[in-house]
Amino acid sequence: MNHFDRTGRRDRRILVTGGAGFIGSAYVRALLGPGGPPGVEVTVLDSLTYAGDLRRLDEVRAHPGLTFVRGDVCDARLAGELAADHGQVVHFAAESHVDRSIVDGSAFTRTNVLGTQTLLDAALRHGVTTFIHVSTDEVYGSIPRGAATEEDPLRPNSPYAASKAAADLIALAHHRTHGLDVRVTRCSNNFGPHQHPEKLIPRFLTSLLDGGSVPVYGDGLQVRDWLHLDDHVRGLELVRTGGRAGEIYNIGGGTSLTNLALTERLLALCGADATRITHVADRKGHDRRYAVDHTKISTELGYRPATDFDAALAETARWYHRHRSWWQPLIAA
Ligand code: NAD
Repeated sequence: MNHFDRTGRRDRRILVTGGAGFIGSAYVRALLGPGGPPGVEVTVLDSLTYAGDLRRLDEVRAHPGLTFVRGDVCDARLAGELAADHGQVVHFAAESHVDRSIVDGSAFTRTNVLGTQTLLDAALRHGVTTFIHVSTDEVYGSIPRGAATEEDPLRPNSPYAASKAAADLIALAHHRTHGLDVRVTRCSNNFGPHQHPEKLIPRFLTSLLDGGSVPVYGDGLQVRDWLHLDDHVRGLELVRTGGRAGEIYNIGGGTSLTNLALTERLLALCGADATRITHVADRKGHDRRYAVDHTKISTELGYRPATDFDAALAETARWYHRHRSWWQPLIAA
């Protein structure tokens, strides 16, 4: 996995930061797996924080087009070396868990803001053709009604969302000031296999599978849009291959649920009932409702979420049921 035959053309080489994370690894598996674009070579740059896990890349580990580099996106020398050797960057690396950002936001500002700045500067200096910056719908803040479009103002509330919003603006400034081909994507809540058990769906599934209870924040009526990993990856590929420079693309899943309604589905999938719910104090600054309008990517690039939510949630529950050996060490850690 560490050897790399750099005979291919630079424009076919994609640097994927955070490629050992939940979404980045799914993107790498899609690029290098069956049906992926032909002739593509991928370098994963990942520092392997608690959230990074190379087991997510097992399926493509032996692929001759994959190189893994353990390193930090804030390392300007390394970013420069890698940028000089790649035509495109798809930037996932981030601190991604809102609750952690409430306890201590410093790593979020460092990785999400400074890391993005470091990569953008490296991309600019070394003539990277396209830079995809993967962001979040949380930058729009709480949306009382309707759905956020790409034109809406940024009103991030958590330190996590604020760090992502800052990175979005820095990325777009590199387009407007320097003409770098930057494309920003803003997706909703992702779900699917291989997600770290600190996040809501796997946290609840693993607790239920262990016979435990599920902690619901506040009244549980916070609303989220759910996006399956595979739909997100398809959306990102559409943006990488057909998106326009300097543009923002929302990527939504089209299934909007309160946390309580989602919890009821998870309980049913695990054969449990509402007695397993414990209501806990609400998260500080908890956004009430997120909703994204993905009309732009649909009309421009033909994006459509293809996953049936209930079937995919059941499949995800089965995955956690069958892969205890994958998640148990992460809970114990
Ligand atoms: P994740 O936490 O699972 O993975 C993040 C990866 O980045 C890990 O592999 C980690 O080791 C790596 N990383 C962290 N700091 C690094 C650093 N300084 N240098 C190099 N690598 C570093 O996150 P995810 O859920 O896969 O999210 C990927 C991207 O998508 C993030 O930018 C996140 O903000 C965004 N996003 C995620 C969701 C979601 O529902 N998971 C929703 C919207 C947006």
